[in-house]
Amino acid sequence: MTTALELLKPRDLELGPFTPASDDADEQAAGADGGITVDQLRRKVEALSVPPGPWKNWRLARDEDGIAWLLIDKQGSSANTLSEDVVRELGDVLSVIENDPPKALVIRSAKRGGFIAGADVGEFRGSAAPNDIEARLKLAHDVVDRLDRLNVPTVAVIHGYCLGGGLEVALACDYRIATEDARLGFPEVLLGLHPGLGGTVRLPRLINPIEAMTMMLTGRTLRARRAKSLGLVDAVTQERHVYAAVRDVAARKLKTARPRWSITLFNSGPARALLAARMRKETKAKAPPEHYPAPYALIDLWETHGGDPAAMQKAEIASFARLIVTSTAQNLVRVFFLRERMKALADGKWPGTRVHVIGAGAMGGDIAAWCAWHGLTVSLGDVKAEPIAGAIKRAADLYKKIGHTGTDIRDALDRLVPDLRSDGIRSADLVIEAAPERLDLKQRIYAAAEQQMRSDAILATNTSSIALEQLRTGLRRPDRFIGLHFFNPVSRMQLVEVVSHDAVDPSVLTAANAFLGRIDRLPTPVKSSPGFLVNRALMPYMMEAFIMLDAGTPKETIDAAAEQFGMPMGPIELADEVGLDICLSVAEHLRGALKPSADGRDMFERPLPEVPQWLQDKVKKGELGRKTGKGLYEWKSGKAVKHSPAAAPEGADKARAAEDLAEMTDRLILPMVDACVACLRQRVVADEETVDGAMIFGTGFAPFRGGPLHYARTRGVPNVLQALERLAAKYGERFRPDPGWSQLA
Ligand code: NAD
Repeated sequence: MTTALELLKPRDLELGPFTPASDDADEQAAGADGGITVDQLRRKVEALSVPPGPWKNWRLARDEDGIAWLLIDKQGSSANTLSEDVVRELGDVLSVIENDPPKALVIRSAKRGGFIAGADVGEFRGSAAPNDIEARLKLAHDVVDRLDRLNVPTVAVIHGYCLGGGLEVALACDYRIATEDARLGFPEVLLGLHPGLGGTVRLPRLINPIEAMTMMLTGRTLRARRAKSLGLVDAVTQERHVYAAVRDVAARKLKTARPRWSITLFNSGPARALLAARMRKETKAKAPPEHYPAPYALIDLWETHGGDPAAMQKAEIASFARLIVTSTAQNLVRVFFLRERMKALADGKWPGTRVHVIGAGAMGGDIAAWCAWHGLTVSLGDVKAEPIAGAIKRAADLYKKIGHTGTDIRDALDRLVPDLRSDGIRSADLVIEAAPERLDLKQRIYAAAEQQMRSDAILATNTSSIALEQLRTGLRRPDRFIGLHFFNPVSRMQLVEVVSHDAVDPSVLTAANAFLGRIDRLPTPVKSSPGFLVNRALMPYMMEAFIMLDAGTPKETIDAAAEQFGMPMGPIELADEVGLDICLSVAEHLRGALKPSADGRDMFERPLPEVPQWLQDKVKKGELGRKTGKGLYEWKSGKAVKHSPAAAPEGADKARAAEDLAEMTDRLILPMVDACVACLRQRVVADEETVDGAMIFGTGFAPFRGGPLHYARTRGVPNVLQALERLAAKYGERFRPDPGWSQLA
C-alpha cells in the first residue's frame, strides 16, 4: 500500500547537513526501504547549523553519523567546472579532512543541474608553453591523488552531468553512487585532448579497459544504468535513497561488481599491443592522425604504460601538455566557444507549445518530427495524404533510433498530428512553411494561412533561396514573418539560419532563437540575401568540383582532396547527398541573383560558373543522387560506391603531384572562404565568429581548422589573396578576390 510518505515528492537534492531547514522539508521524502523519514530529516536539519566555511567553491560539514559532506558549489556560476582555483581549494579542504578524519566522505554538487561539467575550458585557451602546463597539471594531480589516498571510505554522489575533470574527481573516490539522471563521460577528445587529471590511469583499472578506451576515444557519455553495468558506478538510486546508500558506504556495506578478470587480462602487455593496433586502425577510418592527434596519443599512452599506473600518470601529464598547445586543440576549443555563443543566443524562454508545419515533404516532415520529439505539439499539413503518412513513418524510424524508452517514442508520436485540413494553424504559436520552392505557391499558402493564424503567431519559411522581401509582399503581418532555414537531414544538422529582413519585428527574431533552443538547434542570424550564408558559400565549392569533373579529373580524386583538407565529405559526394535537383535549383537561382552589376560596383561582382548541361540532363533522367540510388556516384545501402584513387606517384612526379593536390584543394576551398568574406562585407552575417560557427555546424567545415575565416587568418590573408590571384590568372574571373578581404587584412 502506498504510504503518505511515499506520496510526498522527492526532495530536490540530498545534501546531508546542508539541506535547507525550510518548510519544504515536509515535502522531502523518505522511504520505508532505508530512506530517512521527514521527521528524522527535520531533526537533523535543526540539530545542525552549518557555517558558510572559509572556501569560495566548497562547503564542508559533518552530520550526526560522523559522515563529512563536501559540497562543490562554484561561486558565480550556474554549473560546476573544475577550474584551477576550485582544485586548489579542494587541496585546502583535504588538509582539514586529513587532520580530523570523518567516518566517511561524501562529495556532491550543490547545483541542481549536475555534478561537475568538466574542466574550465576557458583555461585551455591560448596555452602555448607545455612546461608551464605540466607544472600546473602536476599540482592538480597531487590534490586528486590525496583524495584517492584518504583512508576513510569516499563516495561521489553524482546527478546530472559528470564529465571530464568531474569524472576524474569521482574516479579518485572509492565509490560512485549515481541518480538515474546521471550522465558520465570523457568528452576531451572532442577538444583535441584526452583526459588529463588521472582519467587515463584510473578508468582502465576500474572497468574493462576496452570499454574504458572506447569511452575516451569516442567522447560518448553514458547513462547511469549503462555506467552501472560497466562497473563505473556502484549503485544507481533515486534521490530519496541517497542518504541510505551513503550510510552503506560508511558502514562498508555497499556491494560493488567490478569486472576484475577483464581488467587484469586486457591490461596485460600482449593484450594491449594487440588491442592498440586494432584501435589505431578503427580510429584512422574516422580521424586522420595528422589532423586529430589526440586519440593516437591516448592509444600510445595505454599501450606503452597501461601496466604501470605511476608511469602512465607521468606520461598522461606530458602528453596532455603536448596536445593542448597544438593548433587542433586550440581550434577545437575555439569551436567549443563558437557553439556556446550560438547556444547563448538560443537561451531565452520560448513560451509557445504548438507548431504547425505546411508541407510534409523531405524537410517539413522531418522538421515536424524533430519538434514533436522535443515536446511540442505539432500538426502536419499537406495537400496530399501520402507525404504525411511517409513523414510519420520516418518519424517513427527516427524515434526508434534516438529514443530510449517505448514511452518516449509513443508520446512523441502522439504529439505529431496528421492534419490534412490544416486545423492546427488556428492554435499554432509558430507556423513553418516547407512547401515546394515556388514564389507564387508560397505566397498563396501565406494568404490562406494568415486568415486563420492567431495575430501573435509567427510565420516562418524554410525557403533555401527565395528572397524574403519577395515572399512577404501581400502579407498582412510582414513584421511577424521570418525565415527558418533548416538543413537536411534535420535531425543531424544542428544549424538553422534565422533569416531577417527590414520589416521584421526584432522580438520575433528573439522568439525564433528561443524556439530553436527549445528544439536543441543552433541559430545563426542572417540577412535575407541570395543563398543566405551557407548555400552561398557551398555553391562555388560544388561548382568548381563540377568544372574539374568536366576537365576529366576522377570524382574520387576531387573528393579525396577535399577530405584531406578536412571536409567531412567531398563536393561530389555532397552534391549527391543533398540531391542533384536541389543543387541545380540553388545553382540556377544563385547564378541569376549573383550577377555582376553594370557599373561593376554592385555587391555581386563575380559570376558563378555556368551550370553544366549534364547536371540538367541527370536531373531530367531522375538520377538525383543518394535518394534515387544513382547520381554522380552509384549508391548502395546508403553509401557512395567509390573506386580507390590512383596510387600516389614516386620520385620527381611526387613533388608535382603534391603541387597539383595543393592547387586542387585551393580551387575547392578558397572560393568557399571568399564567399564567406563577401557575406561578411555585405553584412549578411554580423561577424567572423558567426561565419565560422555557421560553416562548421552547417557544413562540417574542418572543425580542427577553426572555421573558414580562422583558416584564412591562420594561413595569412596575403597568402590567401596571392593564391586567389594566381588562380584567377590561370582559371578566370571567378577566383578574383572579393573586396571584403581588405577589411580582414
Ligand atoms: P518536397 O517536395 O519534398 O516537399 C514539399 C511538400 O509540400 C510536398 O509533400 C507537397 O505535397 C507539399 N505541398 C505542395 N503544395 C502544398 C500546399 N499548397 N500546401 C501544403 N503542402 C503543399 O520539398 P522539400 O525538399 O521538403 O523542400 C521544401 C522547402 O524546404 C523548399 O522551400 C526548399 O527550398 C526548402 N529546403 C529544402 C532542403 C532540402 O535539402 N530538400 C533543404 C533546406 C531547405
